[in-house]
Amino acid sequence: MDILIPEELAVTALQSLSEKYTVVREGALWRDQEKLKSRAREARTLMVRNQTQVTAELIASAPNLIAVGRLGVGLDNIDVAAATKAGVVVVAPLDANATSVAELTMGLLLALARRIPEADRTTKSGAWDRKGSMGIELDGKTVAICGFGRIGRLVAARARAFGLKVLVFDPFVREDSPALSDVSAKLCDRLEDALANADFVTTHSPLTPETERMFNRQTFAAMKRGAYFINTSRGGVVNETDLMDALKDGHLAGAALDVREIEPPDSRSGFEELSNVILLPHIGAATIEAQTRTFETVAGDLDRILQNQPARNFVNFALPRR
Ligand code: NAD
Repeated sequence: MDILIPEELAVTALQSLSEKYTVVREGALWRDQEKLKSRAREARTLMVRNQTQVTAELIASAPNLIAVGRLGVGLDNIDVAAATKAGVVVVAPLDANATSVAELTMGLLLALARRIPEADRTTKSGAWDRKGSMGIELDGKTVAICGFGRIGRLVAARARAFGLKVLVFDPFVREDSPALSDVSAKLCDRLEDALANADFVTTHSPLTPETERMFNRQTFAAMKRGAYFINTSRGGVVNETDLMDALKDGHLAGAALDVREIEPPDSRSGFEELSNVILLPHIGAATIEAQTRTFETVAGDLDRILQNQPARNFVNFALPRR
């Protein structure tokens, strides 16, 4: 088996690979780790979205595995250290999604500020509630961007075009970085300093032990009363119970969540009842352009690796070391 795909993927996209390789597509395989381990034993490469957990154990049980292609950006479902130790190439199209996620983030900022989903709901239910749909302008407000990487930077540029002032918290960005001066952004040493001065807070950091639940009771309390919170990064950076409390007691004016602690959420969380919360089913990268770029990048690299040629979009090394 050349390529094992343990998640749902459009058949049409796979046509060119299927003509050249043995491609096995089992959409529900990611749900059963034991079955996945047994199927992976024969696989030379894996192509995964965000649902398959590529653990050290899975890698250890796949002696023929030479590469893992991640159809997306976040690498929190792949044990990259274990893959590297085993000599397995990890491929990810790190640039493919950024524009789509940044555009969705701006959409959410505007939707929260102008209460677009609420106004849509009430109008469709027969009301004509102009007073209840009062919003705020973005122009002249401040947005705090937590995580100033590919997506954070694109959000900053777009936010500037709307007249927002930009504050940045990112412990790995230097104060003299041109990426900051390009968008007249101010770097804050402490997350709380950025939060205290922002009307909108949007998070674009990866999920790591340091960022896990970094948005919690304490950090929500550090936000300005009446501010809005947006998460299009990873659900795990937010303590959802604490966010719910901050919304319910009116400290936050609203929130938009594209990503959740558990996906899909296994029970109704209570957010569904709040009219000032926008919930999306992890669609940051769900555009035709991002999906096409992502698939072509990963498919191209798995093809190269299977032909003993170096990958171009690797996160550890270009050729397998096993
Ligand atoms: P990136 O690696 O380019 O940028 C991440 C930034 O976060 C880096 O600048 C890094 O220094 C910073 N960072 C690291 N630790 C931090 C911390 N403790 N506090 C603040 N900042 C910290 O990644 P990217 O391409 O911009 O993507 C960001 C995240 O967006 C991804 O990791 C992924 O989880 C998420 N994402 C979501 C979707 C979606 O569909 N909603 C799609 C793509 C990516």
